[in-house]
Amino acid sequence: MKSVRDYKESLEKLSRKVYAMGKLVDNTVEHPLVQPSWRSVALSYDLAEHEEHEDLMTAYSPLTGGTINRFTHIQQDREDLTRKIKMLRLMGQRTGSCFQRCAGLDCINTLYSVTHDIDNAHGTSYHRRFLDFLFRVQSEDLVCDAAMTDPKGNRRLPPYQQHDPDLYLRVVDRNNEGIIVRGAKAHQTGALNSHYIVALPTTMMGEKDRDYVVSFAVPADAPGVSFVYGRQPSDTRRLEEGGKDAGNLYFGGHEALIIFEDVFVPHELIFMDGEYEFTPVLVERFASYHRASYGGCKVGVGDVLIGATGCMARYHGIEKSSHVRDKLVEMNYLNETLYSCGLASSCAGTQLASGNYFVDPLLANVCKLNVTRLPFEIARLAQDICGGIMVTLPSDQDFQHPQISELLKKYYQGIEEIDTATKVQMIRLVENLTLGSGASAYLTESVHGAGSPQAQRIMIERNMNLEHKMELARSLLQAPPF
Ligand SMILES: Cc1cc2nc3c(=O)[nH]c(=O)nc-3n(C[C@H](O)[C@H](O)[C@H](O)COP(=O)(O)OP(=O)(O)OC[C@H]3O[C@@H](n4cnc5c(N)ncnc54)[C@H](O)[C@@H]3O)c2cc1C
Repeated sequence: MKSVRDYKESLEKLSRKVYAMGKLVDNTVEHPLVQPSWRSVALSYDLAEHEEHEDLMTAYSPLTGGTINRFTHIQQDREDLTRKIKMLRLMGQRTGSCFQRCAGLDCINTLYSVTHDIDNAHGTSYHRRFLDFLFRVQSEDLVCDAAMTDPKGNRRLPPYQQHDPDLYLRVVDRNNEGIIVRGAKAHQTGALNSHYIVALPTTMMGEKDRDYVVSFAVPADAPGVSFVYGRQPSDTRRLEEGGKDAGNLYFGGHEALIIFEDVFVPHELIFMDGEYEFTPVLVERFASYHRASYGGCKVGVGDVLIGATGCMARYHGIEKSSHVRDKLVEMNYLNETLYSCGLASSCAGTQLASGNYFVDPLLANVCKLNVTRLPFEIARLAQDICGGIMVTLPSDQDFQHPQISELLKKYYQGIEEIDTATKVQMIRLVENLTLGSGASAYLTESVHGAGSPQAQRIMIERNMNLEHKMELARSLLQAPPF
């Protein structure tokens, strides 16, 4: 497994075209907007080296025959599915942000089974190719960016009917060695911290969309690939001196637009090419794995927000008030509800034909649909307890100003035992998670990440087996057979 240092050096070796705020970025790891997100991923390498986290952060790989980082593991049983959720909660707790590595994990688990299924139906050799790629990912401890979402243009139209054919990533040419792809992938979590981009089709497609039915991996620095950093609320606070108003001082997440300008993909890195009838199963599997994951990562971040709210209740001197205690209970109840869904979908997982394990899709979708709502209520309660100060507090520069500093410390102090600087920093953390750059992961990603709420409703409708439930009701109208 890689150390944090190895990971840093491996990213610095990549020669990529990255834009952030209108400028080309040389070294993303050192860039103040990207560095917090790099640290979040780096923690997945760091924790894997700690004996107390070995159980959650590492796994035995039947493919390499050795110990690997769990973020590169193919889930072998229900226990693996469950440990993944626990690992994601731990990572959320330690970063208070999106740590970006789970989408790649869910993507490799999806491709493991779907390549197997396509080969069975078509006699292709995608699974063998995928295993070779996976061997590299596991043995070199690589980060994969799960690139599913296309820009999509007019959402009501399939790829082949878009006014601009590049609005979905597609194959534009072929030669003896491989394919040439053009298009883009939007909202790519952790793109700048990844070694490989693994592209997947974003929706179910038909025969006329054949060119768009393509899954492959390319190194992040493949010729023709470029990245544009996606802005987050209050992100430029990270560029201010001291950067304390950013709230989450060391960790963060990021998304980026990845553009593919006629990128060559060799045969050995192509995992699907035109088999449109497998797009529904591919989308369903990735979405379900990823929707269950939210029952781990968002819960870990929720733990941090609840903790920060508890601190604020103490600093305000209100922690023993019954309404405050009740609100903290409510926040915990909502957060643990999400965790229960993540665990339940894992415990009810089943084995696929390829041998690896898959979460229960109904419970995974229930999990994610809850995630589209409950963090907002948790955030509302945090803001309630934190008070209006969260959006009226002067800047850190004012707190440092020699003429006003002492007065600000005096007037913003809460209980006597806590110094104003500690209280102010805690307010900034709640602000980060509920309104600032952290809210893009804790709230907006909770709505749209792994698919917008309607996508979960469609999956719940598909899996809810209403006919069976109607039969149960009808059977109670009959006398029992004894
Ligand atoms: C923070 C964040 C991180 C993400 N990370 C990743 C990542 O790592 N990899 C990745 O591949 N993707 C990622 N995504 C993308 C995510 O999967 C998409 O945001 C999601 O699928 C919704 O797509 P969209 O944002 O384009 O929303 P839109 O498609 O623009 O949805 C807007 C609204 O339109 C509705 N709508 C959409 N299509 C239709 C239709 N045909 N008919 C009727 N209504 C429709 C939706 O239900 C929604 O209400 C991320 C998103 C976010 C916000």
